[in-house]
Amino acid sequence: MANDQLNDLIIVGGGPAGMSAGIYAMRAALKTVLVEKGAPGGQVNLSDEVENYPGFEHISGAELSMKFAEHARSYGIDERSEEVAAIEPGLDHHSVKLANGENLTAHAVIIATGGSPRKLGIPGEEALYGKGVSYCAVCDGFFFRGKDVIVVGGGDSACEEALYLAKLASKVYLVHRRDALRASMILQQRVKEECNIEILWNSVVTEIEEGDAGVGGVRLQDTRTRENRTMPIDGVFIFIGFVPNNQLVPAGTRMNADGFVVTDDKCETNTPGVYAVGDLRERYARQIVLAAGDGCLAALAAAHYVEVRKSKRSPEACEAPAGMFGTHS
Ligand code: NAP
Repeated sequence: MANDQLNDLIIVGGGPAGMSAGIYAMRAALKTVLVEKGAPGGQVNLSDEVENYPGFEHISGAELSMKFAEHARSYGIDERSEEVAAIEPGLDHHSVKLANGENLTAHAVIIATGGSPRKLGIPGEEALYGKGVSYCAVCDGFFFRGKDVIVVGGGDSACEEALYLAKLASKVYLVHRRDALRASMILQQRVKEECNIEILWNSVVTEIEEGDAGVGGVRLQDTRTRENRTMPIDGVFIFIGFVPNNQLVPAGTRMNADGFVVTDDKCETNTPGVYAVGDLRERYARQIVLAAGDGCLAALAAAHYVEVRKSKRSPEACEAPAGMFGTHS
């Protein structure tokens, strides 16, 4: 099935970066299609509470996601609930092929596919996934009311999720491979003050063992002495960072050694008119507000790129004067 209507912009991914790009693109009067295979919001949906998105002291991830989507929809964005099979850059236009066979074309493409939880890669992890092994406390914490669980990791995610689980589980063990947490000070403090969270320092989980009903225990190793021990446990929640969802990034796109897309300061990749935003992009920190900022930046840059292409003038001749887009809405 071919779609011969050339769009101005196609956004792939409907998390904070993609939705923000959608809002700015629609406000710039770009003919825009946003394709998202799952629920809008992406990873944000998995957050129990978001406390650092400006304007919201406390908001659930699911509610913030819904607000992003409603905002983009209020401008009448063409939103498709489909899986993207491939993104193919071209000289005349770029193509986004959907898994249903449809072929969308546009002057510019913004890739906002985010990241996925990093796996430990240890025995039992895959086999017991969904049977006590989880990467989402908000999704699965309910099943561990009154039980003992382990949270693996020492970053913001591990601490936030441990705090969430502490409200449900009878005991939460936070297993961290070093003697200091990586998480922000405020989260570290809350974790240390929570009476049913115990931190197991200098420890790694080397194996997840099966019990009568799913996970039954773990093998732990002391990273200093290499001593091993077995610990009975009901659930294992893993938060050790994430890997970029770069499967759709076209061949030839510059990426760093960890697979994050390298862009310029306008979020443009080394392919003109193809932008990478949010958690997919190489950057210093990963935050919802930064992803939303990327979406804004890429959409404004794409608007300029499309305008130049349409007027068939060289980008240099139409370089936007400084401050062209302003700093206000
Ligand atoms: P992260 O900051 O990369 O932390 C990953 C943690 O897992 C680190 O403590 C790391 O240990 C540990 N780890 C990594 N690989 C491991 C392995 N194979 N075995 C055992 N431990 C391992 O990841 P994150 O916590 O998911 O956060 C990702 C980004 O999102 C960060 O920029 C974070 O600030 C941001 N985030 C922000 C918030 C918030 O602001 N509320 C919430 C969630 C996430 P080492 O410390 O030893 O490296």
